[in-house]
Amino acid sequence: MTEKKIFLDNASTTRVADEVVEAMLPYFTEKFGTASSDYGHSFGVEAKEAMDEARATVASALKTSPDGIIFTSGGTESNNLAIKGIAYRYKNKGNHIIVSSIAHSSALDACEALEKEGFQITLAGVDNQGFIKLDELEKAITDKTILVSVDHGNAEIGAIQDLEKIGKICKERDVRFHADAAQSFTRVPIDVDKMHLDLVTISGHKIHGPKGIGALYVRKGVRLHKLIDGGMYERNLRGGTENIPGIVGLGKAVAISEGVADILTPLRDKLINRVLNEIPEVQLTGPPAGPHRLPTIASFVINYVEGESLLLHLDMRGFNVNTGSACSTKKLKASHVLTAIGLPVEISHGSVRLSVGRYNTEEEVDAVVDNLKEVVTRLREMSPLNAEFMKEWEKEKEEMYKRGESPEDHHH
Ligand SMILES: *Cc1c(COP(=O)(O)O)cnc(C)c1O
Repeated sequence: MTEKKIFLDNASTTRVADEVVEAMLPYFTEKFGTASSDYGHSFGVEAKEAMDEARATVASALKTSPDGIIFTSGGTESNNLAIKGIAYRYKNKGNHIIVSSIAHSSALDACEALEKEGFQITLAGVDNQGFIKLDELEKAITDKTILVSVDHGNAEIGAIQDLEKIGKICKERDVRFHADAAQSFTRVPIDVDKMHLDLVTISGHKIHGPKGIGALYVRKGVRLHKLIDGGMYERNLRGGTENIPGIVGLGKAVAISEGVADILTPLRDKLINRVLNEIPEVQLTGPPAGPHRLPTIASFVINYVEGESLLLHLDMRGFNVNTGSACSTKKLKASHVLTAIGLPVEISHGSVRLSVGRYNTEEEVDAVVDNLKEVVTRLREMSPLNAEFMKEWEKEKEEMYKRGESPEDHHH
């Protein structure tokens, strides 16, 4: 097909920004030094300076100083380093970890691995919009609790947690606090001191930076067990020669992110408003459009259609969207996030997520909604579930007429 593909799956990954590619290129070729050789020659100095600049940029976006930033291979490694790093280091203090029930699979999987080793894991429940139930969280903390880990902005339904409130609870109980900010970083303000954060996960490729680079903020005084041995790199918390081009790219992605949220929010709102207004029997998942929702994500469940078929049909028309999260599309089970907010499994199968990035336009947003409308109508015509519903509805209407009522009183 020669048609241009329209990408509306920016919560899974994003196109690397042109400015980012340009900033990275010299660090593959002329400036190929490593930062740890800065004692010897100018190549090392160049690399060290570039890395220092990126570290300062990332730090300032978290309202902290550069020495708090550890570069990693991405969000998954950062989550593992935060969760396992705390678990192994503080295991003499306690063996209990609380993790959000809607956390990213990398955080949940790290906790599951720890559980097999004897750690106790509690899943923090959320309400029907995806917000952590703070009273329950508070009650779950015991004197054995060493870590609370939550995802700041949820990748599937866009819920933004109140980190300041959760952080306050953790601080009062002397429990370390980790937030996975892979989706929220540079889109939602983060202030590690105000929010009492001890650890923050960042990923490059969710914010128009390269894949395979990320960072973990580690508060001064918070100790971690090292997961990757090999050299005194990154405050001796992560071995391995630094990924200088990736680090430069991440720094650039952060540097050019100012104001992006203000461009993305109207696109998200247009998606949400048009879908809710123009497609019948659709429900928004997560918080309503507003400040408690990621500027990037419009997520829905559409009755009487399968998310998978929607995805396929939209793909044939040149649109990339997602059903739930990228990782769950390969599994046939319902998304853990949609289950956690209390959606019945049958309904969650009709989930679709549209997520915007800096390269999307209003025209693209309009085009995807136009196509989504058509596809939903087509699929519903073919859906046995829908046919059954319509039959039931016809019967119900007949009954109502017999009772002298109008179906309009009942229809929603
Ligand atoms: C993508 C993502 C991750 C994983 O980051 P990678 O850099 O892909 O390893 C972790 N948490 C959240 C919330 C994410 O969206």
